[in-house]
Amino acid sequence: MSLSGSYDASNIFAKILRGEAPCVKVWEDADTVVFMDIFPQTQGHCLVVPRDVEARNLLDLPADRLNGLFGRVQKTARAVVSALNPDGVIITQFNGAPAGQTVFHLHVHVIPRYENLPLQPHHQGKMADMDALSSQAARIRSAMEA
Ligand code: AMP
Repeated sequence: MSLSGSYDASNIFAKILRGEAPCVKVWEDADTVVFMDIFPQTQGHCLVVPRDVEARNLLDLPADRLNGLFGRVQKTARAVVSALNPDGVIITQFNGAPAGQTVFHLHVHVIPRYENLPLQPHHQGKMADMDALSSQAARIRSAMEA
């Protein structure tokens, strides 16, 4: 899909936001849902997804939603650091298929980085163990609610 075009409400994240598809949820509020990436690049990889907006990518997002979204990204990154104690944290976001985007509802990746654990390349993560994912989600959630 190109960088420009119309929003397709049948994308998997739109289905998750509507409750039509499952996810391992970390946290949510009126504007945002945070859930675990099921093909994580490493332990604790999660996605911050704005709700109630038809934005395929960052360029589509109304400017008045930017502060809110990135406030939640920071909150999530702080919670990941507090809960999982990584050595670093990567924040990434892809716009358009040639840039690496595969799901065309805006989302921001929060990816902890552990010095002794290799990072899987984008889109080459393996399907996660659901119990492990749920356990990571619970730890991050506790930190977000603290
Ligand atoms: P991208 O669009 O390239 O920024 O990344 C989309 C991300 O969504 C990838 O990291 C996928 O592993 C992840 N993903 C795809 N389907 C699901 C799903 N059903 N639940 C959680 N994460 C997903």
